[in-house]
Amino acid sequence: MNYFRSLQGQIALAFVLLLLLLQGGGLVLFATAGVRTVRAQVQDSVVTADGVAKRIISARGKQLADSAAVLASDFGFRAALATGDQETIVSALENSAQRIHADMALSLDLYGKPRVAYPAMSADALAAIGSVMQVQGGRQGSIDILDTQTGLYQIVIVPVRAPAQIGSVMLGFALDRSVAADIRATANADVTLLEADPSGRLTAHGSTLNPADLAAALPLLKGTLASGATADEMASADGTARRMDSPDLTLPGGRVLSSVVGLGYAHGNGHLIYLLINRSLDAALAPYWTLGKELLGLSFLLLLGAVALSWRVARDIAQPLKVLTRSAVAIAAGSRNEKLQSLERAGEIGSLARAFGEMQRDIFTREKHIEDLAYVDQLSRLPNRLAFSEHVAEAIRNAPPGQQYAVILLDLDRFKLINELLNHVTGDRVLKSVGKRLTELDTVGITKVARLGGDEFALFLPVESEVAALNVAKRVANQLRLPIPVDEQQEVDVPASMGVALYPEHGATPEDLLRRADVAMYEAKSNRRGIILYDESLSRASSSYLTMMSELRHAVEADELVMFYQPKVDLKGEELAVEALVRWKHPGRGLVPPNEFIPFAEKAGFIQVITRWALRKSLQNCCAWRSRGLAIQVAVNISALDLLDSEFPRTVERLLKETGCAAQWVVLEVTESIVAASDVAQESMKALRALGCDLSIDDFGTGMSNFEYLMKAPVDEIKIDRSLIIRMCHHKQNALVVERMINLIHILGMRVTAEGVENMEELRMLKDFGCDTAQGFLMSRPVPAEALERWFTDKLYLGFVPQSLGSVLAAAPLAETDTDLPLPADAQPSGAASWPDARPSELSPQRALDEMSALASGTQQLVG
Ligand code: C2E
Ligand code: CA
Ligand code: CA
Repeated sequence: MNYFRSLQGQIALAFVLLLLLLQGGGLVLFATAGVRTVRAQVQDSVVTADGVAKRIISARGKQLADSAAVLASDFGFRAALATGDQETIVSALENSAQRIHADMALSLDLYGKPRVAYPAMSADALAAIGSVMQVQGGRQGSIDILDTQTGLYQIVIVPVRAPAQIGSVMLGFALDRSVAADIRATANADVTLLEADPSGRLTAHGSTLNPADLAAALPLLKGTLASGATADEMASADGTARRMDSPDLTLPGGRVLSSVVGLGYAHGNGHLIYLLINRSLDAALAPYWTLGKELLGLSFLLLLGAVALSWRVARDIAQPLKVLTRSAVAIAAGSRNEKLQSLERAGEIGSLARAFGEMQRDIFTREKHIEDLAYVDQLSRLPNRLAFSEHVAEAIRNAPPGQQYAVILLDLDRFKLINELLNHVTGDRVLKSVGKRLTELDTVGITKVARLGGDEFALFLPVESEVAALNVAKRVANQLRLPIPVDEQQEVDVPASMGVALYPEHGATPEDLLRRADVAMYEAKSNRRGIILYDESLSRASSSYLTMMSELRHAVEADELVMFYQPKVDLKGEELAVEALVRWKHPGRGLVPPNEFIPFAEKAGFIQVITRWALRKSLQNCCAWRSRGLAIQVAVNISALDLLDSEFPRTVERLLKETGCAAQWVVLEVTESIVAASDVAQESMKALRALGCDLSIDDFGTGMSNFEYLMKAPVDEIKIDRSLIIRMCHHKQNALVVERMINLIHILGMRVTAEGVENMEELRMLKDFGCDTAQGFLMSRPVPAEALERWFTDKLYLGFVPQSLGSVLAAAPLAETDTDLPLPADAQPSGAASWPDARPSELSPQRALDEMSALASGTQQLVG
């Protein structure tokens, strides 16, 4: 039964039902219309038959009349009648009767009394006829019926004249079965002669019906005839009988259609005589039913054919659907190559199959796309964090015993700046290039390179040892040190800080390994150490980047930041100056140095908040000192990112107003001269100078590949980085480089501050070189505001001012070493204390600048 619930079953069923309906309708139509037609035909033939019957009866009447007339006019007969010659009369009657096969011939006297009869009759019979004739009289020329003891007769009476009437002759045919048989032979219908007495009782006088049918028919007809026409209506004026409505009769031998014709009244008793004509309907229908049966058989065969055909058609429709359904299920289950070749054809099914195929392809593309979105970093097209974690987990699961793996986490150091400075499109390009470089490192056995997000990348590889892991990290670092071109003119270098964690030593899950690598990376970044291998002590000492960020946000609100100050000692006069250096009084970790959080604050876009805090704090202290008579200029470190904020100058202006500080008391130190490449930063710097603040370039000599930008910026001071000052002391050439730098900076119209001065020797040298300001632990470490104030009120700086310093150059010539800073080719010193171009003050600013660029890139190599 399930079959008929299926589409195939439904279609087949509908098909067959439709055919059944059509065939049934046809058969019903055949039966009803057919029966109606046959019936009408039978009806017609009954009508025809009764016409035929009437013609036969009337023809017989005429035959009787003609014969009787001939007899009546026969001379011999008339003579015999006049003379009463019995023998001749009989003979003449016999002749006449035999000629037309009449059943009765009579000669009557003038009163209608039968005298002679042929064939001979009994006196009683003759008397009976005579009495009838006297009552009725004769009607000439009409069809007359005579009811005698021996039966009914159709008679004709003709007078015999000689010349007066001397009698009459009567000829008659018996109205019996033979008449009926005669009519039947011609009219092809059953014929019955009926006599109805006044009570309506019917008597049959001759019938071609079989006795059983006749017996059944009589009572049925009785009602019809009784309610039917009267005898007068039955007989027409011309004597021919009229037909009555034909009743349908159901007889033992079958249904018959009939017609009843009134023939007239019988002489004597006046009974009505009818002629009943009928034909069998069933007999007429019989061939028709045979045809019906044949039709039914044919229908059945057709139906079988239709069932087969509909099954096929239904299967052809449903089969592809089944295939499609199966495919859909398979596709849903993840199958990727459901083939639908079986449906490759023209027409709707074919189109459906093709559409289905397309849908399948679309689904796969979309699935791929979704997978791609889930596992691939859309910018760099590298695997993302999820893909990386899964790869690591997989490798760990299948790791052979004793196998070590390394996770190297890599975070670009200056990306935020590049992104802000050179717009995001360039930033994206840089990230892509970094990604590309990392993937091109495949020779070192890296199995996965991923971008975890932002400027953070991760590498995964099997390693033999810690040393091997660190070596790979170093190769990566070298690779990244090559500048990345961002357009035709510009290149940027993107150094990275890296943390390395090893499996199984540092963690057994991707999450653990990444977290540990993050801790190590964080350490590397804080200490500018490039690459750090994870160590348990790191975990205890430092927190990871994310923890740090949430704590840092809290730190500003909870007032956990404190400002320290370090004196900048004037080597030429008595100007008082300090640099403000922030610290974080961490509740758990004590005093955290700025290197451990400033780079992260920059990365997280949090630096503006810190800068604002630092400025406000420094300006407040500056005002306080000034109010107590200490004219100290305060230098505040600002991030390059601050300069890229066009609102920054207004922020500074507002803070100056708010604290009541004069702009001239403030120096703003910025580490990255590259910011000068940006129009926004240039505008900011100009605006700050317009306010009256001094601008200073910090950490000069490190990471200064973009020195040429420096001159585009309106800068007042350059601070030479501590790494150059340290090297200066024992290596003569380094000292020369610093001296040359100082000279060049002066030529370019700026002040010079030396950072990280830790001993007297350095200080003396710097003084000899003409350096303007010195800053370092030698004079003072960074100290809280109160301590600093004391340092100044106690005039501790006096120990370091020019008068107290002798010349070191004369006293202690310096040795030459291999680790000296490289000098520009055209700037080789010819003597111990001299420069080839001994009079730098005569250099043009442009030449000075070129030389500075060369020096800066040379020192960078060494420091990097
Ligand atoms: P910086 O601007 O170059 O500051 C000088 C750093 O050198 C200070 O480190 C100072 O303590 C250290 N220093 C000074 N003299 C000597 C010396 O003779 N020997 C040695 N070994 N070190 C010396 P600190 O305070 O740890 O600051 C580190 C860096 O953090 C600063 O470098 C500066 O770039 C940044 N920083 C500090 N405070 C702020 C701030 O308020 N805002 C911003 N944006 N950055 C800040
Ligand atoms: Ca500084
Ligand atoms: Ca510095």
